[in-house]
Amino acid sequence: NQSLKGKHALVTGGSRGIGAAIVKRLAKEGANVALTYASSPDRAGQVVKEAEAFGVKALAIQADSADAEAVIAAVERTAVELGGLDILVNNAGVAQMAPIDDFKLSDFDRTFAVNVRAVFVATQAAVKHMKEGGRVINIGSTNAERMPFAGGAVYAMSKSALQGLVQGLSRDLGPRGITINNVQPGPVDTDMNPAEGEFAESLKKLMAIPRYGHVDEIASFVAYLVGPEAGYITGANLMIDGGFAA
Ligand code: NDP
Repeated sequence: NQSLKGKHALVTGGSRGIGAAIVKRLAKEGANVALTYASSPDRAGQVVKEAEAFGVKALAIQADSADAEAVIAAVERTAVELGGLDILVNNAGVAQMAPIDDFKLSDFDRTFAVNVRAVFVATQAAVKHMKEGGRVINIGSTNAERMPFAGGAVYAMSKSALQGLVQGLSRDLGPRGITINNVQPGPVDTDMNPAEGEFAESLKKLMAIPRYGHVDEIASFVAYLVGPEAGYITGANLMIDGGFAA
């Protein structure tokens, strides 16, 4: 029983990590799905093949989230090639960490272009296509609630910005029957934050459940939130972090 049969979705940053898991899970639930990527055409192509194996349409679009025109073009192409747009998952993100004395303004600007500005741009373009029942999900971070080490301030600030965005936009979109929510993962095993990486042991000590999350755990939560049973959830910042911020 596929909960998203006949829906059309776009996932930004779907070539690897959490985004790739979301693409495949939405496809498994019957949604046609497009993904964007910046620099991994081979990985993106592989994800498209795995999604198509569920019998849906799938499509990869090269679009650097820092480029607003490219993001808008990706939204428009998705709507045309899939035949509509019901679900947007703003997942693409970067994590630049450095102590205050060394943090480069160019890294600040890049972080905000990808993690914040692109989310607004994609959402603005996507909701024009959405009908009643539309869904927007941002992938924020538990670091918006708790940043327990130095060097992460700008990343945390970028994810805190998403909290205000979903709270505010829920008021714009609610009367149109569209929900928007912010999913805030804790440490999840990906290229960005490997479970065997140098920070892993210290992160696990901060958690109620002392292990890394699996990308499929995030994807299944997103699949629920974009599905028909989640129509009363909006403007919410939702933790899925093993108790990192508890
Ligand atoms: P990864 O680094 O493993 O993957 C990032 C994905 O985003 C890739 O598909 C990458 O594409 C894409 N991407 C990166 N920059 C851009 C860009 N400028 N334009 C378009 N696509 C881009 O990250 P994760 O899967 O770990 O993270 C996904 C999201 O989850 C991020 O928003 C991150 O902040 C958030 N998050 C992650 C946590 C973790 O512990 N892993 C914890 C909390 C939140 P390409 O392959 O082309 O580079």
